[in-house]
Amino acid sequence: MATALGQEGTRRPARPFIVQVAALRKAIGTSRHEHRDGIINGLAAVGVVVPDGSVTDVDLELTSDPGGITAQGVVKAPWTSECRRCGGPVSGMVEADVRERFAPTTGRYADEDAYPLTGDEIDLEPLARDAVLLGLPLAPLCREECRGLCPVCGTDLNESPCTCQPAGDPRWSALDALRDPPA
Ligand SMILES: [Zn+2]
Ligand SMILES: [Zn+2]
Repeated sequence: MATALGQEGTRRPARPFIVQVAALRKAIGTSRHEHRDGIINGLAAVGVVVPDGSVTDVDLELTSDPGGITAQGVVKAPWTSECRRCGGPVSGMVEADVRERFAPTTGRYADEDAYPLTGDEIDLEPLARDAVLLGLPLAPLCREECRGLCPVCGTDLNESPCTCQPAGDPRWSALDALRDPPA
């Protein structure tokens, strides 16, 4: 079998997400556990990426029925981005619950909303790709209480306040003294 060199230097099968389902389809109503992982490059949403070379993990229960295969389980992948407030690095894991169908593309059981079942083979990669893209965060924060950058001077307000902030501006202290005369 052809192999490709993975990120960690281990040999990986060239098509890690292809699953043969002939036996499963012969015994309608049976299930099989499939755990695959592999590299899916080019996974990215607006400002959030799954770094090229990182491993997407697919853990599914496959169940056959007369019309095809149902796949249910979890898809996991790491992501990196920039905090939408301060621009600092953020990272995390997508853990997407999936329940999807694979069905023939032609004939009596054809289902154009399902992933394709080609002969007795299914490819879990499109399912994994869709699940990861849907699961990526839209506008991640480095932490919930991130103060972000000052829009005027660009100071990282997590590290120190800046003089653009009205509360910290010494020019206002005289006015404050007039408004609130000492008792
Ligand atoms: Zn931040
Ligand atoms: Zn400032």
